[in-house]
Amino acid sequence: MSKLHDVRMKVRGELEAPPGLRRFGSGWISGVLGLVLGIAGLLLVISLLAPGVLAIPETQNIRDNPWYRIGIHIVLVAAFACSGLSLVLRKERTLGTCGVAVTLAAALLGGSQAAAVVAGRPPLFFGLDFFVLNVLFTGFLFIPLERIFAHHDEQPIFREEWREDLFYYLVSSLMVQMLTFLTFLPAKSVLVLVPLTQVRAWVAALPFAVQFVAIMFLTDMVQYWVHRAFHRVPWLWKFHSVHHSARSMDWMAGARMHFMEILVLRSMTVIPMYVLGFGAAAMNTYIFVVYLYSTFVHANLSWRFPVIEKILVTPRFHHWHHGIEEAAVDVNFSIHFPLLDKIFGTYHFPKDQWPEGYGLPGNPVPNGYLAQLKYPFQRKPNTSSTTS
Ligand SMILES: [Zn+2]
Ligand SMILES: [Zn+2]
Repeated sequence: MSKLHDVRMKVRGELEAPPGLRRFGSGWISGVLGLVLGIAGLLLVISLLAPGVLAIPETQNIRDNPWYRIGIHIVLVAAFACSGLSLVLRKERTLGTCGVAVTLAAALLGGSQAAAVVAGRPPLFFGLDFFVLNVLFTGFLFIPLERIFAHHDEQPIFREEWREDLFYYLVSSLMVQMLTFLTFLPAKSVLVLVPLTQVRAWVAALPFAVQFVAIMFLTDMVQYWVHRAFHRVPWLWKFHSVHHSARSMDWMAGARMHFMEILVLRSMTVIPMYVLGFGAAAMNTYIFVVYLYSTFVHANLSWRFPVIEKILVTPRFHHWHHGIEEAAVDVNFSIHFPLLDKIFGTYHFPKDQWPEGYGLPGNPVPNGYLAQLKYPFQRKPNTSSTTS
């Protein structure tokens, strides 16, 4: 057990290595890529062993496509090659050795040809494949952008608290079935009580673009007030303060959200979209766009959008929402249209400026997923910050 702990600590130390040990040619990039792809490949192979339990029905078409297994094969070969390269280039062999080990484990379990050993689909399933695809897709999209266009260019990929935020990704991806069910439950109940048949028929007949913009606006309207309530009502703030406890902003920071908040926020915001009868195409497109959009506004990107930022929320606008300074408290609640903050008097967007830092004064929220899960329920909140 302590051996495993030692390996974990060594891997962590290597991932968080100082800049001098991460430079091009040091075997760090290949080592990290080898390990990440190796773990991704291993988890995808595991999901192939029990597809009914560890893969989501929405990926069935992808999994049935022959390219899915070819893709896993390429991931495993790339993991092996990168890890091998790191072993050649790097004196410290932890990353390379672990990368080779997880890739071999994936191969021993059947690799890309792994067949299901657990058949059927039980009522409860977990999105293990969704987690891998989610992180690979978002990470490979945003990490290069953040490397090239960073607002804080000294911030490493494995910055402080990256493990917590990755764990948030893991939990919300694994629990996707339960989250989706509970998210739509209130909206379905409202629809039973208020069928709105004629309104729904009229809305469904609107052009796609009109439906999409209407969903954005209505969702943001609800989101604005729920979000504002999470800031202003003291016991709700304890849940939302977890999201604001992030001291670094990047593509992973947005994932940090208390489970209860995810449920409340999502279930409230889908009510207008679901009840008013928008078409499936507009709703699904919106869900995909909002998933990328919320990652984007948290990202460590210095991009400026001189005209667009007056109409649509940009990273700089949402970074101000997370700002640590006095002027950034309870401002910029919108996630799509800054206009809502202008109308309701919570707009704060000084020209060309960024907040000095992120997080909460005094760091009242403890570190670690479980401690943060319990935090809102504690009678006396932990006032001292701990480091892990
Ligand atoms: Zn907030
Ligand atoms: Zn945020």
